[in-house]
Amino acid sequence: MAPEFDLIRRHFTWPVPQSGMLGVGDDCALFLPPAGRQVAVSTDLLVEGRHFFPDVDPRSLGHKSLAVNLSDLAAMGAQPVGCVLGLALPDIDHGWLAAFASGFRTLAEHAGCPLLGGDTTRSLSGRTISVTVFGHVDPLQALRRDAAQPGDDLWVSGRLGAAHAALQVMLEKWSVPADAPVQDWRQALEHPEPQLALGQRLVGVAHAAIDISDGLAQDLGHILAASACGACIDCSLLPEADGLQALDEAQRLEALLGGGDVYQLCFTAAPEQRDAILQAAAEAGVQVTRVGTMEPQAGLRLVDARGQAVPDGFDGFDHFRA
Ligand code: ADP
Ligand code: MG
Repeated sequence: MAPEFDLIRRHFTWPVPQSGMLGVGDDCALFLPPAGRQVAVSTDLLVEGRHFFPDVDPRSLGHKSLAVNLSDLAAMGAQPVGCVLGLALPDIDHGWLAAFASGFRTLAEHAGCPLLGGDTTRSLSGRTISVTVFGHVDPLQALRRDAAQPGDDLWVSGRLGAAHAALQVMLEKWSVPADAPVQDWRQALEHPEPQLALGQRLVGVAHAAIDISDGLAQDLGHILAASACGACIDCSLLPEADGLQALDEAQRLEALLGGGDVYQLCFTAAPEQRDAILQAAAEAGVQVTRVGTMEPQAGLRLVDARGQAVPDGFDGFDHFRA
């Protein structure tokens, strides 16, 4: 058997749980979205040296490759149907592949997102991983970026800053106190949990949503641009990961507002929906925090607890910066 087919058979051929679906092994995968639902599709590339360290634990990488895609479905309020996986690999390392596949499969089964196909090829340099997820969503109530309204509350789920702090420590850009919870921060970076349950429960309750992959300030900026409005964040309300108090103030703000790889949701909703949102969050088992308000005038304003302007000398993660 050609090594490519052997690799697919050994590591990526799992039973597809749903009848009416066709998974790995034919020219195309087949599935039927439930009647009246719109198909939601998202894809993400992970490039070695750019999005992950070459020596990262392959099980975590398998998890994260799917998690970042499921996070996009979550931010749309969509429910997963299945996924496909593209792999470009410099060599065939069955130990690495088994661990990668196990991390991927554990999350796929947990999220109800079976692997339905993919493509595998040899690369001339490092590893590249491309995952595409398919989901379905209420066609009228998807959580689109252009649906925010002035006067909406601005919310975030979970806590911010841990993944960024981990990355800065691993890149040796920050030195932090010896008792800083670097392992917990690293877990946040390498093992993000997509907020599918929350996203689905926000449908019909929230207006706009986005997942925080490039940093709250930058990702919220996409909602502001698409919805043609502005926002004001009270920085004293931002929910921060444990251990960030040990950082200096500039680093803290950078982690909270500029830190990427969070995969929590930022969303807007009318103030009348506060109870419904707290209930949705309780049902999903996640913390949500109201951090600001959407405003009619363009731009993002940052204020402290007394309403004084906070200078914003940071940027979200910029893919095209050197
Ligand atoms: P084709 O030549 O039609 O593109 P391939 O030989 O590339 O088919 O793939 C054979 C089958 O294995 C297809 O069903 C494809 O979806 C699946 N497949 C290939 N690579 C992967 C992968 N990395 N993960 C899951 N399925 C894969
Ligand atoms: Mg192919």
